[in-house]
Amino acid sequence: ARLHVVVIGGGAGGATVARHLARDSGGALDVTLVETNPVYTTCFMSNLYLGGLRSYESLEHGYGAIGAGVTVIHDTATAVDRERKSVTLAGGQSLAYDRLVLAPGIDFVEDAVPGWSLEPHAGIMPHAYKAGPQTQLLKSMVEAMPQGGTFALVAPPDPYRCPPGPYERVSMIATLFKRTNPTAKILIIDPKEGFSKQTLFENAWLKYYDGMIDWIGPDFGGDLVEVRPETMELVIDGEVQKVDACNVIPAQVAGRIAAAAGVTDDSGWAPVAPESLRSKIDEAVFVLGDSALQGDMPKSASAANSQAAVVVRAIRADLLGTKLRNADYANTCWSLLAPDDGVKLGGAYEATPEKIASVHHFISEAHEDAALRKATYEESIGWYDGITADIFG
Ligand code: FAD
Repeated sequence: ARLHVVVIGGGAGGATVARHLARDSGGALDVTLVETNPVYTTCFMSNLYLGGLRSYESLEHGYGAIGAGVTVIHDTATAVDRERKSVTLAGGQSLAYDRLVLAPGIDFVEDAVPGWSLEPHAGIMPHAYKAGPQTQLLKSMVEAMPQGGTFALVAPPDPYRCPPGPYERVSMIATLFKRTNPTAKILIIDPKEGFSKQTLFENAWLKYYDGMIDWIGPDFGGDLVEVRPETMELVIDGEVQKVDACNVIPAQVAGRIAAAAGVTDDSGWAPVAPESLRSKIDEAVFVLGDSALQGDMPKSASAANSQAAVVVRAIRADLLGTKLRNADYANTCWSLLAPDDGVKLGGAYEATPEKIASVHHFISEAHEDAALRKATYEESIGWYDGITADIFG
């Protein structure tokens, strides 16, 4: 029988693996992609939609161009039997595999923020950290705020998807407020001592949105927050604060199916070999993207896409006997501070015996001129077009 690779999760990591594995193996492997949603909405650039700088439709991608070699099934994987090498889908179907690739992204830790649970509170205080209707809900809530109202964002503890994401989000909502609600206030409630690109963000908040944004770190109770969705209140270190809209981004773990498959550890993430992203728990399973516990790479689409190339080569070597070369990885994370003011950070990584280790790192400088910042923003648009074409065809 032909060898069969099943990929669960058609996002930045999984769709890239499915598409490239089918293409690069020239029809020698059967590749099935299991993805819940018929349309994928990118988290990347979704903050620009919140800021009114991008349309919602521009974030949406279907699977029609993924290539003839990939069988796409729109269903949810509910169980993995690793003994029998089979996956069960919610619709009742079961799929046998020779190799299984898991790229299910993230799920939220229940009760991570006291007072908030996904059901039913995501409808009142959205997370908007899986893009789609949640992102639209957050935008409509922010737009409906009274003049001079307060928007709160509860930031997550490390490690989480897209380290600069919450802070870019605040910058983009501030951009929107500057236009439509200039006396509005933004509170960031943060359990962390510091955050990604902090100097770049803080400089921009002073320059563009002076007095609008307050960051409450753990020294001021940022780690002791409770929310009351029904009354739209926060309790910060015992003090009740009424707000007009609130974005709760809870602590995160690997997408649920990774734990159901038994390939996560106590951290909640799936440990993998640095040179191949092969699960340390099961040789027939690969885990990439946000779900993987791999070392120094941030949880980003850019990282997931880079890891996908390594997974494709590792599976081809494994099943087809092609030659394996050294694994190296790259990542760039872009953030928009204000219209035409873009910054980036990133690096190169390589597999060491212990982990995927950072070997080179770069970050935009604090005092770059406007032309360079505009060029960085334009570069990020090019990156988006390129990576979405690489993922979805
Ligand atoms: P995902 O892309 O989330 O894909 C997982 C897929 O698996 C989903 O489509 C889901 O429906 C599916 N799935 C899950 N479980 C199942 C199941 N059981 N059965 C079937 N299907 C399932 N990254 C960048 O590189 N650059 C950025 O500028 C950037 N900006 C961001 C901004 C925000 C606000 C956020 C929230 C994230 C941002 N990211 C950015 C991060 C990026 O979105 C993620 O790191 C990336 O999507 C991770 O890819 P993944 O393949 O691991 O997971």
